[in-house]
Amino acid sequence: MSRESVENDCSLEVGRAQTAKSSLTKAILRETGVAQAIIDFRAPTMLIPKTEKDDANLRLEVARANWALPASGLVTMHSGNASGYDPESGLVYIKPSGMDYDQIKPGNLAVVRLETGEVLTPDIRPSVDLAHHLFLYKNLPEVRGIIHTHSNYATAFAAANKPVPCCLTAICDEFGGEIPCTPYIDNEGENIGRAILKYRRERTPAILLGNHGVFAWGSSPKNALKAAVMVEDVARTVWLAMQLGPVAAIPPEEAEKWYDRYQNRYGQG
Ligand SMILES: [Zn+2]
Repeated sequence: MSRESVENDCSLEVGRAQTAKSSLTKAILRETGVAQAIIDFRAPTMLIPKTEKDDANLRLEVARANWALPASGLVTMHSGNASGYDPESGLVYIKPSGMDYDQIKPGNLAVVRLETGEVLTPDIRPSVDLAHHLFLYKNLPEVRGIIHTHSNYATAFAAANKPVPCCLTAICDEFGGEIPCTPYIDNEGENIGRAILKYRRERTPAILLGNHGVFAWGSSPKNALKAAVMVEDVARTVWLAMQLGPVAAIPPEEAEKWYDRYQNRYGQG
């Protein structure tokens, strides 16, 4: 989604958003600025049963993760999706199927009950990749955000059924070792989810699906997005390096030093 289209959308919705009465709404607007003006605050309560506890913050984060996919160059047309999971309500929020990214709003995400797979938004069909998202949330209980893309350089490795080798310190930092690649898996039932569980590396928050693309996950949609962006970034650098000849692997004990520093001491805590 272009910045211009976001701002145009914002200007259309600003008046409506400014009239929102709840203190939560006002707090979100205050905290997060102009992008929040495009939220349709009334839609969530209309779309899900009253017994469900909706999560406006998570809706916003899932919408933002979806907006970031084209903005980060990870998707072409509709070839990717982002979701988020709230364990308190048991609800998964996910990109609507086939919807242009600049049409996505926090209020028009598809909503699904994780336990049963029931879609609570009858007028909004979820991404066709829903089954894989649900399977991962059920089987990786710490995960709160999932991204799927066909980003170009990472998917080039997937086309060759090759992992991204651990030959950059940035790969050690973020992924703790090579980014694995599954063999080709069909799209039926839980086959993709099961393959991700089987072939993933324990601490590596992303995997390549052979002949297909990328799945990335994290403790939030924002962290899943970071993993998806970093997969593409390092895949691009490694692909460029491969034009020079064979790449040099970093030994596991050295990868450990980088991973430990980045995961445990980097940043502001
Ligand atoms: Zn796909």
